[in-house]
Amino acid sequence: MIVLGIDAADYRLAKRWDLENLLLDNHASLETFSHSLDTPSTIEVWPSIATGLSPEEHGLSVGSGDRLEWENPVLKLGSRITSHLPTEVRYQLGRPFRRASALESARIDESVSHLFETGYVRNWPGITPAREWGRASEWFGQVSRGELTDDEYVRREMGNDGQIIGWLEAQALSDVSLAGAHIHGLDHLGHVYAKRPEKLRNGYEIVDTLVGQLRELADELVIVSDHGMQQTLTDDPEPGVHSWHAMVSTTIDGELPDSVFDVRSWIEARLEGETRAENGAATIDAPTEHLEDLGYL
Ligand SMILES: [Zn+2]
Repeated sequence: MIVLGIDAADYRLAKRWDLENLLLDNHASLETFSHSLDTPSTIEVWPSIATGLSPEEHGLSVGSGDRLEWENPVLKLGSRITSHLPTEVRYQLGRPFRRASALESARIDESVSHLFETGYVRNWPGITPAREWGRASEWFGQVSRGELTDDEYVRREMGNDGQIIGWLEAQALSDVSLAGAHIHGLDHLGHVYAKRPEKLRNGYEIVDTLVGQLRELADELVIVSDHGMQQTLTDDPEPGVHSWHAMVSTTIDGELPDSVFDVRSWIEARLEGETRAENGAATIDAPTEHLEDLGYL
């Protein structure tokens, strides 16, 4: 089974634009939650999807990102300037300046178990180092400073997401029983293009096409999002702020999980009996001397 987390994939937009690969065969809205902020937050919801636990239980919240972030002196200066502002505003303002040392490297408590312990996982906030998310956050920062064209920005974000989807395709071709990854492009594009629906639609359609390839290779595919995004297109009061319209879709028939807290148990119930095959260390057939000459070893 392949699990693709698409940050901020808004159920309303997937349906409105009839994106059949995002919707797969079976789809529904997914109940999500807010904890530190008024709206759902990426660093709190993804660990909850992987663990089935609340932020109090898994140990990660927007605040834990801040704690890490303020240890960096450059970011500390920024935090002092904005420290008189409410947490939510500080969070939004601070976002472009965050680096891989902050949210992208924050992890759940070591004692907490998660879905992917018997599988493979990449770029999942709170579970693995989310390097691709960190890289994309730097481009997001560049956009906020007017340093990238639209074309260049979208090309980078979609290329980044495509790498991760390609990794999932290779896991599917390797017959693993469970692999999961998270992509962040549609969250960033949703913030950037909250008032320009055609530009956002272009991003959704690119991701839909990439997912179409993954769908062909995966035995079973599950797509989940942590929240949606408020847009002018959907007449939302605060375009560019996270919405409550998370989604789940799958190639599997039957009942779907109701909330982000149910996704883990829903997947585990469908994986029962499948375990990760253990095998011996890989070996190399080529002569060692030749590999030394090549500089490989
Ligand atoms: Zn998110």
